[in-house]
Amino acid sequence: MNAQPAQQIPGIYHRKIGDIIVTAVSDGYLDGTLDVMRNVDLEKAHQILTDAFRPARRTSVNTFLIRSKGRTAIIDTGSGNYLQPTAGFVQRSLAADGIDPKSIDTVLLTHMHPDHSAGLTDMSNGQLLFPNAELVMHENELAHWFDDGAMAKADERSAKLFFQAGREQVAPYKSRTRLFGDGEVFPGVTAIPSHGHTPGHTAYLVASGQDQLMIWGDTVHVPEVQTAFPEAGMSFDTDLAAAATSRKRMFDRVSADGVLVAGMHLHFPAFSRLARRGNAYALYPEAWVHAL
Ligand SMILES: [Zn+2]
Repeated sequence: MNAQPAQQIPGIYHRKIGDIIVTAVSDGYLDGTLDVMRNVDLEKAHQILTDAFRPARRTSVNTFLIRSKGRTAIIDTGSGNYLQPTAGFVQRSLAADGIDPKSIDTVLLTHMHPDHSAGLTDMSNGQLLFPNAELVMHENELAHWFDDGAMAKADERSAKLFFQAGREQVAPYKSRTRLFGDGEVFPGVTAIPSHGHTPGHTAYLVASGQDQLMIWGDTVHVPEVQTAFPEAGMSFDTDLAAAATSRKRMFDRVSADGVLVAGMHLHFPAFSRLARRGNAYALYPEAWVHAL
């Protein structure tokens, strides 16, 4: 008899965008409650998830590898060993794709939250997990999380989870960190500032030939609820109102143009399109294809 499987093969999924290969690399998922949602009737939010056969908030954590012009970047690094045992699988997933982390020359961060930046560094010993990579992010992001005044105003949990841990994750890359305002930040990858969730939160538009992919970062955390109620945000949005404005602007842009989107918290492998439905939106995951 064949052996019974106990787990999935690692989560990797390739998508060609013109001459660029984008690979969704799963970090796993995080479980939580809806109590962290803001600006939404929680009863309605629960009902939406129940109706979608997702009675609890289970959040995919995705990263995206970009192979472009002979170079390799990864957008975000997952949660390392810092959050839940259901996440932290980026290195395992990369290995399954035959990728040596030493061969990754650039790490682009959407923002410095631990489900995105804790995979940079082994926090138990300070060892770099992408030892040859330049670390690249929006200038506001580093400035905010290293701002002692902002940290002093944060509650104890945020001070530890976001400020202190974030500093530990990026500090080992200090001599090779590059900050940007906007523009092309890697071959074929343009930074689209989308601030609010954090002060430097950034989406990345991947473009080659006629093809485009908007990797929209944390535009949504609970896709079913936030496409139905674009106002809805999270307790850990640095600026709830600005995050909602950025979310609506992003929704308008990608739905008007029919642009392929991916996100760090869309259900893996995340490649989807967004359609406008009155005042709300609907996400349509792209069908799986075998060959590039
Ligand atoms: Zn996140």
